[in-house]
Amino acid sequence: MIELLFLLLPVAAGYGWIMGKNSAKNQAHQLNRQITSEYSKGLKFLLDREEDQGLEHLINLLEVAADSVEHYSTLATMFRRRGELDRAIKIHELLLKHPSLDEQQAATSRLELAEDYIMAGLLDGAEEHLVWLVKAGYKEALEPIINLYSQTREWEKGINMYEAHSELFTKPQHVKAIANFYCEAALQDNDTQIMRKAISLNHKAIRPLYELGHSAFTKEDYVKAIYYWRELISQFTFFAPVFIEELALSYQKLNLTHQFYELLNELLDKGGVLIKIKHCQALLEQGHIEQAIKFLTDSLKRHPTIRGFSFLLQLLAKQNNDIKDVLDQIDKLVTSYIATKPDFQCQHCGFTSHTIYWVCPSCKHWETIVPSRGIDGF
Ligand SMILES: [Zn+2]
Repeated sequence: MIELLFLLLPVAAGYGWIMGKNSAKNQAHQLNRQITSEYSKGLKFLLDREEDQGLEHLINLLEVAADSVEHYSTLATMFRRRGELDRAIKIHELLLKHPSLDEQQAATSRLELAEDYIMAGLLDGAEEHLVWLVKAGYKEALEPIINLYSQTREWEKGINMYEAHSELFTKPQHVKAIANFYCEAALQDNDTQIMRKAISLNHKAIRPLYELGHSAFTKEDYVKAIYYWRELISQFTFFAPVFIEELALSYQKLNLTHQFYELLNELLDKGGVLIKIKHCQALLEQGHIEQAIKFLTDSLKRHPTIRGFSFLLQLLAKQNNDIKDVLDQIDKLVTSYIATKPDFQCQHCGFTSHTIYWVCPSCKHWETIVPSRGIDGF
């Protein structure tokens, strides 16, 4: 009730201004009567606890006080936050029909109404308004409609929307979402052709390269797996922990392990501790244990990490038989500590997990969950 009354402040202010400026007293008088009548009706309904009708009368006041649109929007947002969605919807629907709204105000009201519908679970209604906004060129509608299609798993609709209005997709996060829509549609139809379309999008995404490599790997087409995954690891080296074992195996299957070692060398500067550990393993397999220990020790001095420390303990244990048991015991403790740490973290909201999710279960952004970094990370 109190929230409704505060709406009358701008009306009163507007009325005062009109009265001050307008010398045509009759016109002012008529206006006054109109405001008073609508106000009285609205207030009476509110006092009688018939709040829907009360609201409608107060909304009618917009005709004489169009600058209070913002106040009504604020009120609707307040109702939505309190979970009173029917009232938020009512205000936004009435606002949307109002002839005094300019183009931007109408678009904002439509967007807000779509948000109300989504919260109320009325997804068809929300989709209708969001599609209208996208067709009219409002980029603000992209995020909610992408989230809506992600929720309903309507990949085709999202792809069609992108193909018809690709000029609106200027934010990398929106393009990444569509790249993932292509991947989901491709996996659903078992058609990698659809996935290849995602590679040609203007912002690079991780998923298409990963899935194409994975699909080739499961078909034992190691040449193709290396082709896609090499591209992926070069562009997104931080993502290596997800597929580096399979990539190493692909090289091994083709008797090209030396090429894998060369690749690790190329990635040393931009890679994390896992790339450095793999490099040490390569040195070890070539019989260069001392070189591996020196490389890892120097590297840990610059960037200390728990995983690197654990691998260093393993290397030292191999070289020092007399204290091997002690080093193994320490490494067990360190390894059990690492196991308690999440392997993945969302770069957008901080959500952590032990498995990779392409869409964050918490913030619903696509491709924001990546292997953990920092002292406990990769
Ligand atoms: Zn998140």
